[in-house]
Amino acid sequence: MLRRIAVICLCLIFLFILDTRTSAQNDPDWTTPLSPFHIAGNLYYVGSKGLANYLVVTPEGNILINSDLEANVPLIQDSIEKLGFHFKDTKILLISHAHWDHDAGSAKIKELTGAKYMVMDGDVPVVESGGKADFQYGNRSELLYRPAKVDRVLHDGDEVKLGGAVLVAHLTPGHTKGCTTWTMKATEAGKTYDVVIVGSPNVNPGYKLVNNSAYPEIAQDYERMFRVLESLPCDIFLGAHGVYFNMEEKYSHLKLGAVSPFVDPAGYRKFVAGKEQEFRSELAKQEHTPS
Ligand SMILES: [Zn+2]
Repeated sequence: MLRRIAVICLCLIFLFILDTRTSAQNDPDWTTPLSPFHIAGNLYYVGSKGLANYLVVTPEGNILINSDLEANVPLIQDSIEKLGFHFKDTKILLISHAHWDHDAGSAKIKELTGAKYMVMDGDVPVVESGGKADFQYGNRSELLYRPAKVDRVLHDGDEVKLGGAVLVAHLTPGHTKGCTTWTMKATEAGKTYDVVIVGSPNVNPGYKLVNNSAYPEIAQDYERMFRVLESLPCDIFLGAHGVYFNMEEKYSHLKLGAVSPFVDPAGYRKFVAGKEQEFRSELAKQEHTPS
């Protein structure tokens, strides 16, 4: 009997380890290359199939959003060069939020380009510790990465300016403490569009919204994030992952000659409302489950 219990326990431990490992495993789409493309005005997509990177091109150099996994850095470089720009002209590096799939390549990009790394205050300890200070994943060795020094600490509402381009950093916390939604204007064919690049509204598997000692204000932060996202004017809807805004489908329209498939204010509102619904049902579930 004891042996049987021991075997069952070992099996359960094994399954638990397997589950926590696979749930954090990298999606193969993350490192699948995608042809870079023009979005609008001075804004370009230079990411992979699963991880979004944006390049804002200015006469004084370029701004890159997200560094992804270190393995993505050559892909990003390739995409920038394919568009006819120079990777070495990257003057400023920004991120959507301090998770390895958006920031693990930052040290490498800083090394290769000398770009100034600008990060929202709440995410600074995480990027500078290579993920160790993350409230959820800090003790997961397989998710840690090379730390990168932050050159400018950003606060909610700060502007990042270069060569006439202005990006506004909106604190949209919850997913990480410094999760950032970027907005900018892009002018195309005489029309100016409001661009929103969503940081992340997702409640990841295992996130504790109730009695979270590592992040006590997490639920209020999610609430705040949804209010901010609802308040932002949006014509061009983008985000940290292409799946947020149905990039694959819009990209196929672009290849068929559509001028601006990324102009999707209704899609943006629908996305935000759907994610808020997901958050509310997860919160209700956790509030009714004794922990
Ligand atoms: Zn994330």
